[in-house]
Amino acid sequence: MTKDINILLTYDTYYPDETLTEDLLEQLENYHCTKVYSFIELSRKLKEQEFDIILLDLSQSQVSRIAALISIEFEAKDIPVIVISGDEDEEFALQLVKQGAQDHLGSDCLCLTNLKKSINLAIERKQLQNRLEFYMDSFEASNKELENFAYVASHDLQEPLRKIITFGDRLTSKCTEQLDDKAQDYLGRMQGAASRMKILLNDLLQYSRASRQAEEEVIDLNQLVKEIIDSLDDVIQEKQAQISYDDLPNIEANHTQIQQVFQNLISNAIKYSKEAESPQVKIEYKRDKDQHVISFSDNGIGFSNEYAKKIFNQFYRLHGKNSQYQGTGMGLAICKKIIERGGGSIAATSEEGQGSTFIIRLPAKELVTT
Ligand code: ADP
Repeated sequence: MTKDINILLTYDTYYPDETLTEDLLEQLENYHCTKVYSFIELSRKLKEQEFDIILLDLSQSQVSRIAALISIEFEAKDIPVIVISGDEDEEFALQLVKQGAQDHLGSDCLCLTNLKKSINLAIERKQLQNRLEFYMDSFEASNKELENFAYVASHDLQEPLRKIITFGDRLTSKCTEQLDDKAQDYLGRMQGAASRMKILLNDLLQYSRASRQAEEEVIDLNQLVKEIIDSLDDVIQEKQAQISYDDLPNIEANHTQIQQVFQNLISNAIKYSKEAESPQVKIEYKRDKDQHVISFSDNGIGFSNEYAKKIFNQFYRLHGKNSQYQGTGMGLAICKKIIERGGGSIAATSEEGQGSTFIIRLPAKELVTT
């Protein structure tokens, strides 16, 4: 059995010159047509009754074209809309579709077959669109829930862990004499694992914080890099690292998060250096249309380019627990999250033994300085 289709046919005048649309609809079985003669009546009718589709049959006036665009914005959210107008104006048709209409029929192609086909396709397409939107909304909601869970879990697990570390410390400092060598060894390992867990939880917490809305301000990147270099002074001295940087722009972003990105990239460039060579880190800047492009290059151990994407995954590392290069594998995942959340991108290129380059692209916004 064919399903009944309820159509709300809307004219933009009380005295339409043409009634071809309703004449055609009359020839279609199971297609029931209700007529209204203004956009106000259209809204009112939609509140009283349910329809499967709206047909907007427009006169030539410019005013009614604009009114149609406004009306589609409000009504086409749930119901498919097809616009019928006297001419085949492609630009207007495109505007209509961008606004949410499913189709536009010019009077030169208005016939029974085309009208029926357009109505059926529009209903089908709108149902698919609605289903897709529903899945996207549920996906976004469950994603948020998951991020929230990671945040709460990593935050709340810190407290019991702090206690484990504190009591472990007390055992070490106050009861060493009562413990034999074996017990002391177990205690030492337990403390080591607890400290590692603390670092992991902290990274996880930072990762979930990176997905949250954070306050933005104007940041002077030259100043930021200077401060990071100062804070890394010990390791810079120890490894005899040299860091150079171009004149960097001011950007608008969250200070803590951008600092985290720069700090991760610069400290990685120093950490993954070759044993026999002191690290040389270069931070270069160029403007590419509406983007700031900042690259971080080093002369370190590098990695095979097949890992260039994978190293941005959470907990992904190219070195084992016992290697000389320590870490959690969360630094680059945090960088990626922060940069992408700000509408930018981050990528890496490298070759084993040939150094690495990390490139971040950030949208260059107009800055409001006070
Ligand atoms: P972590 O440094 O804690 O392991 P990251 O997420 O910062 O975690 O980096 C992930 C992996 O990417 C590292 O384990 C390392 O193998 C590789 N890596 C990152 N930066 C560099 C670099 N500058 N040179 C070589 N390898 C790097």
